[in-house]
Amino acid sequence: MGDDRYVRTPIVIANWKLNKTVGEAIKFASALRDAVSDVGSVEIAVAPAFTALSSVSSALGESIVHLAAQDVFWEDDGAFTGEISPAMLKDVGCEYVIIGHSERRQFFGETNESANRKVKAVLSNDLKPILCVGENLEDREADRAESVIENHVRTGLAGIPSEMLPSTVIAYEPVWAIGTGVTATPDQAQLAHQFIRSLLSEMYSVELAAGVRIQYGGSVKPDNISELITQPDVDGALVGGASLEVETFAQIAISANKQ
Ligand code: PEP
Repeated sequence: MGDDRYVRTPIVIANWKLNKTVGEAIKFASALRDAVSDVGSVEIAVAPAFTALSSVSSALGESIVHLAAQDVFWEDDGAFTGEISPAMLKDVGCEYVIIGHSERRQFFGETNESANRKVKAVLSNDLKPILCVGENLEDREADRAESVIENHVRTGLAGIPSEMLPSTVIAYEPVWAIGTGVTATPDQAQLAHQFIRSLLSEMYSVELAAGVRIQYGGSVKPDNISELITQPDVDGALVGGASLEVETFAQIAISANKQ
């Protein structure tokens, strides 16, 4: 699948999770704009908490850095206290939305079915979903990583038409690697990404699957991004802990350039 006909621009996203006040987020965004202005062929986005989206959007202005949200609800409006709609995210300048992150699955009852509703809602509002998939340690040790990933991908994308697939990003995030300091080896990441791409080929077509970006997430740092990004099916990174310092995140984004 490392076919030269399919050039996939790597995408690197900072997932700040429950971190940064509005002031801290603005400061980071302004410094990041300058630090990555020459990044070349890498797409970069930051995903602040909901409270900082609007201010970060203004701080980024016309820069090459895009804005992402960490979650969304699938309804457009109504009696859903505490929720945020896709249109609201679009209104503040978001382009991407992280969906089905393992922390949402673990702590907030996210399921493959709810993730699927969110993916559909996001795409129909002209936003781009980042669908997070990946097995936990128990799954891996029981040799069922592939069946868990397959279920995440097939259910998460159920009913998504072919024409919307190019707007969709998949993040392969093995749960055992998230926030643990244990990164998947380049071979483990490549095997999982290749497997996801082969699933997409079965669900859609080889051509469409070859154009989909599959990010790796799980303890990505400046010193391991280069070996991960050289894998043919690794198309960027979703970065948690190492995205909280601007220099560290900028270094990861710059190193994700495959050219
Ligand atoms: C994440 O939360 O998506 C993530 C990959 O976190 P970390 O980089 O800290 O492992």
